Amino acid sequence: MKAPKFRFIKPQSLSEAIGLLSEFEDEARILAGGQSLIPTLNMRLSQPEVVIDINKLDELKGISLETDHVRIGAMTRHVEVMGSALVNENLPLIAEALPYVAHVAVRNRGTFGGSIALADPAAELPACILALQAEIVLEGPQGRRKVDADDFFHGLYDTAMRPDEILTEVLLPLAKPGEVFSFMELSRRKGDYAQAGVACRALISSKTFENIRLVYFGSELKPTVGENVIRALEGQTWSGDIDEKIFSQLEDDLDPIDNLHGSAALKMHWQKVLTKRAIAAAVEKTELV
Ligand SMILES: Cc1cc2nc3c(=O)[nH]c(=O)nc-3n(C[C@H](O)[C@H](O)[C@H](O)COP(=O)(O)OP(=O)(O)OC[C@H]3O[C@@H](n4cnc5c(N)ncnc54)[C@H](O)[C@@H]3O)c2cc1C
Repeated sequence: MKAPKFRFIKPQSLSEAIGLLSEFEDEARILAGGQSLIPTLNMRLSQPEVVIDINKLDELKGISLETDHVRIGAMTRHVEVMGSALVNENLPLIAEALPYVAHVAVRNRGTFGGSIALADPAAELPACILALQAEIVLEGPQGRRKVDADDFFHGLYDTAMRPDEILTEVLLPLAKPGEVFSFMELSRRKGDYAQAGVACRALISSKTFENIRLVYFGSELKPTVGENVIRALEGQTWSGDIDEKIFSQLEDDLDPIDNLHGSAALKMHWQKVLTKRAIAAAVEKTELV
């Protein structure tokens, strides 16, 4: 199918783009890398009156190291984030997850901000920024505001972003001394969206979990923090396995979607297996540090 007719506007500045969004609101869609928007237009799942292409906005591009965080501009392509020495050095979780995001051709155009704004429940980057407790920067007619990742993802493709706002950058805290990260995903083929996955950030000392954060994706309607399993793990010592009692906590944290990618029970099983692998990987990394 072909996309429906729409007006195409390519603003030259962020303020012009925000002005256009305020004017058209729900009738407008932002075009970033187009890797998700264009297919939905072609399939007529989305029929906006106006498409606002933000590819000219240089202020939304690039990666920089600030005092206590790395700033990734919304229009930075996945391929640039993946090739960034700054990201590899300071954001090991993002570096580990990016090869799982789609394929080379999609990563060449798709953007960091586009992935966060879209909030696909099976996407890798939303889970990672939630694991890192990043801040999302939004700009609209009322000005600039920061939203904690914990408050950003509301539901299926639903976020704290208002229709007249643009996601401009994401601020990702630097790893704290001793912190380790691991990332596990199950997908049908390499580069596909996840059927189940977990992003892990941990501080482990003598195999004891001092601090751990586990964020699940793929199985839920939005990236989900494993609050109960985290509480159960803290203070526990890793013996090469996880007690079934701890795993049963995950059943209170997750409510897997039953769909063609797998039943809810199967997804719960996958998430348990991935949790164990993610934790084992984190312990191993701690021993290497
Ligand atoms: C074959 C294929 C496989 C893929 N596999 C994966 C995968 O495994 N994992 C994964 O995470 N992704 C995957 N993707 C999606 C890809 O990562 C996209 O890059 C991403 O979802 C959206 O980024 P984009 O820049 O292309 O955004 P676009 O498609 O341009 O926009 C997506 C949505 O976000 C909105 N938007 C974009 N940027 C902003 C902004 N700055 N402010 C406000 N709103 C904005 C748009 O209006 C639109 O509604 C895949 C895509 C394809 C085509």
